[in-house]
Amino acid sequence: MTQRIGIIGHPLHHSLSPLFQQAALDALEIDATFASWPTPPEEFAETVEGLRADDCMGCCITLPHKEVALELVDELDPAAEEIGAINTIVNDGGRLKGYNTDAPGFLRGLREAAGFEPQGRAVLVLGAGGAARAIVFALREAGVSRLTIANRTEERAQALAKDLTRGRFRPDAMSLDVDRLANAAPYADLIVNATSMGMSGGSAMLETPVPPELISGSALCYDAVYAPPMTPFLQAGEDAGARIAGGLSMLIYQGAEGFKLWTGREAPVEVMFDAIPEAMREG
Ligand code: NAP
Repeated sequence: MTQRIGIIGHPLHHSLSPLFQQAALDALEIDATFASWPTPPEEFAETVEGLRADDCMGCCITLPHKEVALELVDELDPAAEEIGAINTIVNDGGRLKGYNTDAPGFLRGLREAAGFEPQGRAVLVLGAGGAARAIVFALREAGVSRLTIANRTEERAQALAKDLTRGRFRPDAMSLDVDRLANAAPYADLIVNATSMGMSGGSAMLETPVPPELISGSALCYDAVYAPPMTPFLQAGEDAGARIAGGLSMLIYQGAEGFKLWTGREAPVEVMFDAIPEAMREG
């Protein structure tokens, strides 16, 4: 029986997941299809129930369902529980288990695609939404020495810092304004944009969260946004003489983690990268 996997979100116009996941399934000759399952919030619970079917391996979850999904599965991976969001569901014989693969996906992208080892480094994370929560968790597990979270809504940055505090890992929290950023951005070895600023089609598509004059030339600027490949934040990093890396690696590696969870097979990541249209790639 051909198996089904899909991505659930709303809207889902530009998802690249069906493209690179299907290429990976085909490359390993796995009899499964990966589809786009656009689902508005009022239909989400019913769609998740449908994942229990015999011919369904599970799904990816994207905006706006990542937090609600947490309540609908039977079991949660402990990391996903702490992050407070899931982006992957596995159907294990009718029982649904939720995972967050954004965290390991980000870390693998940072290490393998951007060549950056976060252990012992000072990091500034911009944003406090779902992506930022996974990224702060990943950076904590990787042993960063210092972490600051800056967000437009300062209370959300404070809540995230509090939620993920553990032992000596105590993130600072601040608002995303230039005066405050001046105390953190120039001293960061790594700056991660986990806001939706710069995202294609978004209301702040032409804006960078940090201006170039606050970025150190020795820093790495990593943008979780992957469309467009060159964002205003990455442009600011380049203008400052810093190294830059876009979010395509995080997208592919979070998908590779999901692939392994659904199929039990190591994902062919080169096939996945090759499936991305040239215009969507960096550099
Ligand atoms: P989310 O939960 O909706 O959070 C959005 C974040 O962006 C919040 O911190 C929000 O601040 C901030 N924000 C939105 N508009 C802003 C503006 N005009 N000015 C300043 N801050 C603004 O979304 P998410 O899931 O975290 O996703 C964030 C971005 O990461 C998206 O662009 C998404 O595509 C990308 N992402 C990429 C990957 C990947 O695999 N590469 C994975 C996940 C997400 P407030 O708290 O003040 O609203």
